[in-house]
Amino acid sequence: MIKTADQLKEQAKKIGLTRWVVRRCSMCDYPLAYYFSVDYERVKFDSGCDCVNYSHEEERSWENLAENYNMNQPERNPKISKEYLDELNKIWQFEEAK
Ligand SMILES: [Zn+2]
Repeated sequence: MIKTADQLKEQAKKIGLTRWVVRRCSMCDYPLAYYFSVDYERVKFDSGCDCVNYSHEEERSWENLAENYNMNQPERNPKISKEYLDELNKIWQFEEAK
């Protein structure tokens, strides 16, 4: 299901999510992840390892996170793997995905 930035922010708060590992680096397995501030007002993306690029932590927005989330939903990406989607749903725990 497509979500708005606010819906994702509310859900992260509700379930106490501290980070969302979008995927792991295909070369070194480093978790490429969004991290949330304690009050959920700020979002950082950690691209961590040096395999692909050299910028590490950077400030992002919930809008940016929502784009990334929605990009990985079947509505936008019909070829998304069931494994990835299962993992995503396990992380975000939205009611309709249970
Ligand atoms: Zn890497």
